[in-house]
Amino acid sequence: MLEKYRYNVYRCTRCGVCRAKYNENVHYVCPVLENTAGFDHYCGRGRIATAKGILEEKFGYSDALIDVIYACLCCENCREQCGSVDPETDKPLIDTARIVRAMREEIVELGKAPNVMSELAKVVAETKNTFGGSLEKKKALAQKFNLPDAGKVVFFSGCYSVFRNPKEAEDTIKILKGVEDNLAYLGDSEWCCGVMQYWDGNTSVMRDMVYHNIEMIEKSGADKIVTACSGCYDTIKDIYPEIIEDKLPFRVLHLSEYLADLIDQGRLKFKNKINKTVTYHDPCHLGRHAGIYEQPRKVIEAIPGIKLVEMERNRGSAFCCGSGIGSVRATHPKMALQITHSRVDEAAATGAEVVTSACPMCVEQLELSGKKRKMDLEFINLPALVAQAMGL
Ligand code: SF4
Ligand code: SF4
Repeated sequence: MLEKYRYNVYRCTRCGVCRAKYNENVHYVCPVLENTAGFDHYCGRGRIATAKGILEEKFGYSDALIDVIYACLCCENCREQCGSVDPETDKPLIDTARIVRAMREEIVELGKAPNVMSELAKVVAETKNTFGGSLEKKKALAQKFNLPDAGKVVFFSGCYSVFRNPKEAEDTIKILKGVEDNLAYLGDSEWCCGVMQYWDGNTSVMRDMVYHNIEMIEKSGADKIVTACSGCYDTIKDIYPEIIEDKLPFRVLHLSEYLADLIDQGRLKFKNKINKTVTYHDPCHLGRHAGIYEQPRKVIEAIPGIKLVEMERNRGSAFCCGSGIGSVRATHPKMALQITHSRVDEAAATGAEVVTSACPMCVEQLELSGKKRKMDLEFINLPALVAQAMGL
């Protein structure tokens, strides 16, 4: 709840760096501010002022304010550009996304969350996945690849790759099976990681996912899990320990980290050349949230034939794809797509033929913009790119 952040809220000096920071690498900070009329309440500084007003009971959660609070991508670019650090904990002093999340928790408790988010939380609580599909689909995937539910390395598919783009889950399994004798998959025992519900303030729904998934992974005997989804990765690695207030009994690796390690060991072999210019979009939940910037680039650059070119805003300054972990896309679809258009335009300006990323959600969102505008760009997520180069 918001009270937890009172100290942090009062540390904001209203300097405005999170509103607009101009230097060699950063020209804008908040994608929402840049794609709305430019009112302060949409950027980090304004969101902190909103939190202060709530804490001081100057105003409450009106419908208009709730709309603004749910129009934050939780992309953490404002936190990154603010850069203030708590000297006692060494953690960011002003973490706007978490403060926004705390306000959302209070809104959920008041029963005033946007309908679309409440409905989604209900779907996840009932079906244990974001798309309301049957977990039989995950079971079928395990059967198709003959994957046991116990082993030293567990593949965590997440919902997106199974229900939206099954090829992505299959490519990842093929890559992992090629190098891992002990690969396992929980199948229908794997529930949604809960990322959306965490950032939307539906913490009680998320909590069920956390305890269930940890129990199932422990039961599998895994000492590490590998996922190709940036949302699952950051949630399990960084948020699960926060929820259970303890360390996890297993390691969590993103596919890009896992593959970068294999490259170092000389164990990743590519058969095919991909003679294309590729640009890489940093997913917020892999980059700013989890600090993984170089491993995906290492994997892409190791593929024979690929020329990697960078977008102007990359790594810590990368712009969000607009999805906002699916939430902003659900609550503010028009604005979300506008943000996506600006990111795809930036990708096109590099002269790349292919836009890649390390998150199925980001790639789907970016592709939506490219297709709508009939752009001459291919959108290929990392597992597909690697599988193609490995000849799988
Ligand atoms: S959040 Fe940080 S960057 Fe933004 S106004 Fe406050 S102190 Fe400045
Ligand atoms: S987290 Fe992202 S979208 Fe939200 S205020 Fe900060 S920069 Fe803007």
